Amino acid sequence: MNSYDVAIIGSGPGGYVAAIRCAQLGMKTAIIEKYSTLGGTCLNVGCIPSKALLDSSHHYDDAVKHFEEHGIEIPGEVKVNLEKMIARKQAVVDQTTGGIDFLMKKNNIDVYQGLGSFKDATHITINGEETTEIEAKNTIIATGSKPSNLPFINIDKERIITSTEALKLKEIPKHLIVIGGGVIGLELGQVYRRLGAEVTVVEYMDRIIPTMDAGLSKELNKVFKKAKFKMQVSHKVKSVERVGDEVIVKADNKKGEEVEFKGDYCLVSVGRKPYTDGLNTEAAGVKLDDRGRVEVNAHLQTSASNIYAIGDVVKGAMLAHKAEEEGVFVAETLAGQKPHIDYNLIPGVVYTWPEVAAVGKTEEQLKEAGVDYKVGSFPMRALGRSRASMDLDGFVKILADKTTDEILGVHMIGARAADMIAEAVVAMEYRASAEDVSRMSHAHPTFTEAIKEAALAATEDRALHI
Ligand code: FAD
Repeated sequence: MNSYDVAIIGSGPGGYVAAIRCAQLGMKTAIIEKYSTLGGTCLNVGCIPSKALLDSSHHYDDAVKHFEEHGIEIPGEVKVNLEKMIARKQAVVDQTTGGIDFLMKKNNIDVYQGLGSFKDATHITINGEETTEIEAKNTIIATGSKPSNLPFINIDKERIITSTEALKLKEIPKHLIVIGGGVIGLELGQVYRRLGAEVTVVEYMDRIIPTMDAGLSKELNKVFKKAKFKMQVSHKVKSVERVGDEVIVKADNKKGEEVEFKGDYCLVSVGRKPYTDGLNTEAAGVKLDDRGRVEVNAHLQTSASNIYAIGDVVKGAMLAHKAEEEGVFVAETLAGQKPHIDYNLIPGVVYTWPEVAAVGKTEEQLKEAGVDYKVGSFPMRALGRSRASMDLDGFVKILADKTTDEILGVHMIGARAADMIAEAVVAMEYRASAEDVSRMSHAHPTFTEAIKEAALAATEDRALHI
């Protein structure tokens, strides 16, 4: 039987990054993955394929709507070849997951394909093409999550689908009904809206992206409405039925009246749930909490002292980069180091266009905590860079402590906000004041000038270009 210092169950961004860091730190490392490709949800059916389709559909949208005003004429009609678009997405996925195979080899990590299941706290059975057993001094559970559902919805994976099927449709829906106005629903909704589908978003809460700052929800809602999305907030879905090729969604609106939406596809994107099926956690003495997540302490250690858990399967934001930070954290903990993660500084991003990105506290959170704060805001449309590319929607908003000027939260919506948020993370990591940022040179013309201007606005209302 092969014996390891550490075994990692699950090869998503949490698992494979943990494996690399463990190997770097000199541990004999194994990784176990039940699917034939490494990379988990993120690389196979999450972050990477969704961004590939967002990019392809963005090119199409630009060609149809904006090329002409840029003085670019295309003789004949611009058409979508969905099969080719999906094939390109798959090629990107294959290349990316292949890259993880390379990284495992490079770091001398043993890869086992099969379902990992605890026999006890130090032995794991792997049920793949054949059954293998390994011994591990320490184990990291990184088994991730799966799409959740509402109890009355029967996801048939043909017309009533999750994000996984939405990434490989064979036709462009005529009318896609998206249940859930969160990140995944809006990103995939925008893909198909750009490709020509009518899209209705049905959201239970009174605003889309309800966990983000309300100002961001409002602006994104405005942009989506301009793009002729049908936005139905404060709607409680009661039933989803398939009749032939039609899907009928019934919901109660704000007034309690029943309303009906008819489409040909329904994307159920109501969140994700931790995944521990088949893991046999009880055999190892690993406890789950009341929401099915693996229970961990501040060191990400489970109720079994030699077993840790990271990523979507534990509490916290279900984000790839959060999983990665936790992977490194556990590897370094096992090596006797004292790593640290500041969960307040894990940025959240929506890759729609305009992109939405945030870090730190929202205005709603600061109000609730009774913090005295000030706001500096700057519209993207006032930037020369935005006018050059005609990306005029959005703003950057900086929230800073009223007394100390320390930046407490940065919320932005606009072109390339996903990349720009890194500046805010760095500033907050070093506990910058709004004035610190306002006095740093930002290249002109760039979208990042909106961050400087918002910081100027936050310190004595001295934005320059408005
Ligand atoms: P996962 O990536 O879910 O990986 C877990 C792995 O464990 C899987 O491969 C699974 O097969 C394997 N596994 C499970 N049980 C066992 C077992 N018993 N034995 C062996 N293997 C097992 N996040 C972002 O930060 N940015 C984005 O842009 C983004 N976009 C997304 C888009 C979509 C459509 C979706 C669905 C998600 C997106 N996410 C995004 C979320 C991101 O994918 C997850 O947060 C991330 O993948 C979590 O990583 P993880 O390592 O915890 O688990």
